[in-house]
Amino acid sequence: MQRSSIGLASAALFFILASLLFAEESSNVFWRYANDRYNQPALIDPLIVPSGVDPYDWFAETQGFDAWEVHKNNEVAFLTEKSVTGEIPILCLHKLSREEDYALTPDRFRYLLDYLRENNWYLVSDHQYLERDFSRVPTGMKPIVMGSDDASHGNFVFQTKGDLITGPVKRFFGSPRLDRDSMVAILEKHAEREEGRINFTFYVSFDAIPFRQLDDYENPGAPYRGVPIIAEKIRYLDNNFLLGIHTRSHIYAHDMNPNEFAQEVRAGWELLNEYAGGQAETVRTLAFPFGIRPLTPELRRAVTDVSVGGVSLIGAFDFDNKLAPPPGAELDLFDVSRFNVDNRNWERLLRTLDKADAVVARRDIIWETDIKKLPKSRYSLGASSSDEVWVLIRGDREHLASDEQPVPSG
Ligand SMILES: [Zn+2]
Repeated sequence: MQRSSIGLASAALFFILASLLFAEESSNVFWRYANDRYNQPALIDPLIVPSGVDPYDWFAETQGFDAWEVHKNNEVAFLTEKSVTGEIPILCLHKLSREEDYALTPDRFRYLLDYLRENNWYLVSDHQYLERDFSRVPTGMKPIVMGSDDASHGNFVFQTKGDLITGPVKRFFGSPRLDRDSMVAILEKHAEREEGRINFTFYVSFDAIPFRQLDDYENPGAPYRGVPIIAEKIRYLDNNFLLGIHTRSHIYAHDMNPNEFAQEVRAGWELLNEYAGGQAETVRTLAFPFGIRPLTPELRRAVTDVSVGGVSLIGAFDFDNKLAPPPGAELDLFDVSRFNVDNRNWERLLRTLDKADAVVARRDIIWETDIKKLPKSRYSLGASSSDEVWVLIRGDREHLASDEQPVPSG
């Protein structure tokens, strides 16, 4: 009796010692990727994850995140805080012109884009906002969403010979030339691309010629089907920006019954697909013409039930001059606030952006490996200079740890 107790006790003691000795090798360990005192890249400050817990959840808690999302891209994970407080501006533009209402001058649009960049705002797409995916926003930047309704004057203009609306487009070896004062040209010059695309959505309606150009083509009348230059522009936007639905006829939802409105949404979507020459790749959102007050349960159901080519909407936008909630808040994805941008409210827009309780992005870039080694570089992992980079050695998986010094990976 006595002997076997001692035997058990020593076995237990051995087990504890062994666990301590091998803790690092059998557990998940986060290493900070930073420069050492000789200014050489190194793995420092190991954090050993207690066994039996999810390493990302544990790590997010040690970072003090309220809520979080993990987006994995092969062996690289983007651990992003999902803020529960703060505001996201979702800006709604219309025309580019000198008119006071629902129009902004091209110079002010240039100024706005430069101002946003200089003040650490980062353009996320309406999709990313609705999917609460801010994984591409570098630490310290403030997410903002932008788009333009109506496909109206100044949105996307090619240079023409003669009249701007009806005249033939000037081409250079077949390629049209952009009017430098149009929204598309200004965005291409003053906004950053993300994976080849500028995060700006054009919500197109078909109550007038989309983008207000015919390129010498005879005006077919509403809903303006089969105009070659419209197809050229829709395809361009689907590849380089994002497209959204603004219905076929641009009618206020409460001026008809919910099913009729859903039919308007579907018809607008089908026209976009027809022009895209198949399912338009980026169409997943709707901007309610004139906004929506209130979104009734019947209308909500009718809109969420719309499906074209097996695809449904992921959300819809109001036009109520408010800033939108943060990604960690409860929100109705089909009644999201947008802020009006025009010449009349220009000063108010800048004041609102200056004093907004903006969400400030926080993320950690985590590279998962099975053995202790250095990544090629922080940039190879998609990290910006403000992001913290960590290497997570998955000791709980296939164990290949070695005692060698860390070596840069091929
Ligand atoms: Zn509109």
